[in-house]
Amino acid sequence: MKKIEHIGIAVKNLKEAGAVYEQLLGVKSYKEEAVPSEGVNTLFFHMGESKIELLEGTADASPITKFIEKKGEGIHHIAFDVEDIYSEMERLKGEGFVVLNEKPKKGADNKLVCFVHPKSSHGVLIELCQEIAD
Ligand code: ZN
Repeated sequence: MKKIEHIGIAVKNLKEAGAVYEQLLGVKSYKEEAVPSEGVNTLFFHMGESKIELLEGTADASPITKFIEKKGEGIHHIAFDVEDIYSEMERLKGEGFVVLNEKPKKGADNKLVCFVHPKSSHGVLIELCQEIAD
């Protein structure tokens, strides 16, 4: 894995949280994107060579809405940038990690993504992500 690509933070209200993070980081967000398949709206900030992703659930069944109900707002996942998501998934499965999707899926910000179950990684939801070549 190459670097921390982004840290995902679950928020109740994307607009309010976005304004706070603009003040905190001293930069404007560069992208707002809805991912209907995941039931989320996202807002991204550049932070050096990593990013901050704010996530707001769009429905009661959204994983983000459920997360906030259970744990409140806060860090939801850490995403690692990978060169080849298919081989990383195979490698991790071989090491006994539980991946949450059998095939990479299209995530926000032009990425192929796969999640690793937090049970496998001491309570932290891990996202693998690979930039989709244009
Ligand atoms: Zn993410």
